[in-house]
Formats: sequence, C-alpha cells, structure tokens
Amino acid sequence: MSQTIYNVLSREKEVFKPINEGRVMMYVCGPTVYDNSHLGHAKTYVSFDVVVRWFRYNGLKVRYVQNITDVGHLLDDGEDRILKGARREKVEPMEIVERYMRAYFEDMDALGVVRPDISPRASAHVPEQIEMIQELIAKGHAYEVDGSVYYSVESFKEYGKLSGRHVEEMEAGRRVAVRDEKHHPMDFALWIKAPPNHVLQWPSPWGRGYPGWHIECSAMSNKYLGPTFDIHGGGVDNIFPHNECEIAQSEGAHEQPFTNTWMLTGTLLVDGVKMSKSLGNFITIKDALKQYRPEALRVFILSGLYRSPADYSTSALDAATKGAERINTAARRVRVELKNARPGDEANNGRLIDLLDQYRMRFTSAMNDDFNAPLALSALFDMGKDLNTAIDEGTASQPVLEQADAVYRELGGQVLGVVQPESQASGGGSAEREAGLIQMLIDMRLEARKAKDYARADSIRSQLMKFGVILEDGPKGTTFRISSN
Ligand SMILES: [Zn+2]
Repeated sequence: MSQTIYNVLSREKEVFKPINEGRVMMYVCGPTVYDNSHLGHAKTYVSFDVVVRWFRYNGLKVRYVQNITDVGHLLDDGEDRILKGARREKVEPMEIVERYMRAYFEDMDALGVVRPDISPRASAHVPEQIEMIQELIAKGHAYEVDGSVYYSVESFKEYGKLSGRHVEEMEAGRRVAVRDEKHHPMDFALWIKAPPNHVLQWPSPWGRGYPGWHIECSAMSNKYLGPTFDIHGGGVDNIFPHNECEIAQSEGAHEQPFTNTWMLTGTLLVDGVKMSKSLGNFITIKDALKQYRPEALRVFILSGLYRSPADYSTSALDAATKGAERINTAARRVRVELKNARPGDEANNGRLIDLLDQYRMRFTSAMNDDFNAPLALSALFDMGKDLNTAIDEGTASQPVLEQADAVYRELGGQVLGVVQPESQASGGGSAEREAGLIQMLIDMRLEARKAKDYARADSIRSQLMKFGVILEDGPKGTTFRISSN
C-alpha cells in the first residue's frame, strides 16, 4: 500500500515517493521564541509529530529539521520580536531566546511530541544566510540598497505559485506604506541594515545588519537537507509571505525545486474565532495543560484532519477528554485481563484475531491516505467496543488480548501518542499494580467472609465497585472485571 499526501503546491493528493528510498528528509518551520507557545503551535507540531512517527513506524529513516527563529522575525511596526520580548521582560535578547526555547521544548515534551533531529537557530547560521544572499545577488534575484538587500519578486516568475497570489494583485491590494528604497513594493528584505545601537547585528559584505526572517529557512534547510528535499511543512498561516519567499529564495539560488511536497496544517480557532492576542482568546499550551491531559489535547488535535481548521472549545475538549479516557480505559482493561487470561479455543481466537487485523488495516489505510488521523482514531475506538464485548462475554483469551495490547501499544502509543505507556502491557507497571491491588482486596474479602464478618466483605465489594471493579463469585472462586464505562 502506498502513502499519499496532499501537496499544497499541486493542490492534489500525490503518491509519496522519497528522493532516496527508505529515507525522508523533512523540514517544518519552527517557532519564533519570544513568548510562550500557544495552541496553534500544538496543532501544527502534534500533526507533524504523527507524520514522523508514522514514517518511522513503517521503517523509514526520517531526518526531521525544525528551525528556531531567534532573530529577524519582525512585527508589523518593524520591531524584532526577540527585542520586544527582551524589552518586556527586561533581559538580554538571548535570555529571551533561551527562556522561550526551553519553554517550547517543555511544552512539546509534555504533549509527547518527538523532538526534531536538528533544531537549527537562525542566529547560529548567519554565515550560511549571507552566502545565500550573495548567490541571489550574483544570479540577479536580489539587489543592495544602502546596506540592506532585497529580493526582487519580479525576477522570479513563479512567485506566488504556492499561495496562488499574483504580484500584480498583491500590489493593488496593498495599503500599508512601503519603504521607498525597494524597487517593487512586494520585494522583501534578505538583509536589513542595523541602526547603530541595534542589539542583534552581524558584519556582512553590506555593512552591519541582520538577516530577514525568510532567508533562515532557505539557508538552514539547504545545509541540513540539501537543495531539494522531500517534505516542507508548516502552518497554513505562514503560506504567504513566508513560505512563498522561501521558495523564491531557494529556487532562485539553486535553480531546482525546493521541496517535492508542501504540507500545511489548518488554522486553530477558539470558539470559531481565529486566536489572537488582541482578541484576548490567546491560549498558551501551558494553560491548556493545566485544564486538560496531554492525551486529551492530542485526541482533540487528531480528531480533525491536519489540514483542516480545528475549533477549540470547552465542549470539544470535554469530548476529547472522554475519548482519551475511553481509549486508555480499554487499553488498561486489556492489560488487566491479560493477568487472568486463559488460552481459549482455536476457532474463537482465530475469529477475534481476524477482527483485530481488520482494525489494524483500517488504521493503516487511513494513515496511508494523507495521514487521516480521525479515521485512524475511529478504528481504535471501534476496536475498544468489540474488545469490551469479548471481555464481557468471556471470549477474550490470552492470544487475543496479547494482539489487542500490541495494537494499543503500536498504533495508539507509538504512532498517535494517545495511549499512555502505563495502559500498555510492556509499558510502565501501573496496570500490573492495579491488578495486584485488586487481587489483594479480593483475598481480604475472602478472609472477612471466612471470619463471618459479612459487613466488611460487602464493604470491600461496594468500595471496589465505586472504582468500576466488579467482583464475580463463581464455583472456582472470585474473579473481577473492569466496567467498560
Ligand atoms: Zn520557515
């Protein structure tokens, strides 16, 4: 079965074929580290996390590069975001960078996002950026004016091909004042002349200055992945101008395609409205994690297609919390049942194992179809229902439960990251501990009954029931099951 991916550039689902068989070279635009990361970041990076996990699960080697922007990403008023953060918190710009880069990784770790293989920082790759700007000047794509260098959008015929915008339209729709020194209002800065007291500045062939925001991604992806690589990802909000500028720079300098596949994640909305600081609906990952478990946030994000918008609301997160609990309860139940499991009969085992294989196949074809995580998740939810029925009916034997545990561990844990390790047989020891504690209480109840202390025996039974543990007295002694709701 082949992997398809929706390529934003061709606007079609294409069969994904890595340039080098068995290897995926992938770049995703990273955060500008001047403040805490928000839920929009969570959506983008959890989505790409699942892409990377899926490739690796299928045996592909992935080099995942995600930059850290620590210079040159300017606000509308022209101030560098890092300098704004430094002013706000009255510290050195590089302290802001360290503070929020660490905070970003903390958030991603908490969400179970696998770290990129390389997290290159823009400020550490100024020579590479200068070199690329020189190449662009030499090839007639860029020009210098008074210590600043601009990219000439008219020199690159395909400017606008990713976002579908045309230079003429963009010009007509433009209302903000432009700097006179540019040849064309849409030309963008590759190198910016630094005012004398500017904190972030480097020497260059054009005098002291600092790089524009877009050039870092072109220079660093080239350094670590080559001039043409497999997948370029990011949030759709950066399609213009950022991604468009990256293409113009890289293809202008190298005269070959920048990347074969463009994958962009949809916007995150809060109660139907785009999240922004000015609207006051800005939610940081740290705040969301105070309210919701990481698996719930992942289930919320993966319940929609990565390239569609997602709408964050209390009801959506409550539903995701229930979903995450349901899947983890089912996985834990399988684990606990495994302790008491019997070999079962062959015909019945065969039937149930076939059923589990069908869920695996449903999951796989969903993921192969442009990473359709919501469909993949639904396969796991439906599997949970069937497993609960089989356990209730006493047909879930050891080989069946072992297979079920493997599905939860691999697809729910390794690929989607929504099944907690302690819910898995080979993970942490909490399910084992749970089974042991229940058995201990069953033994205590038996002792109480032997001593004719029926009040105490009944109390143990009803206390366990409160935790969803149901005791069943049979001819061979007392067994237990975990209630499925
Ligand atoms: Zn970028």
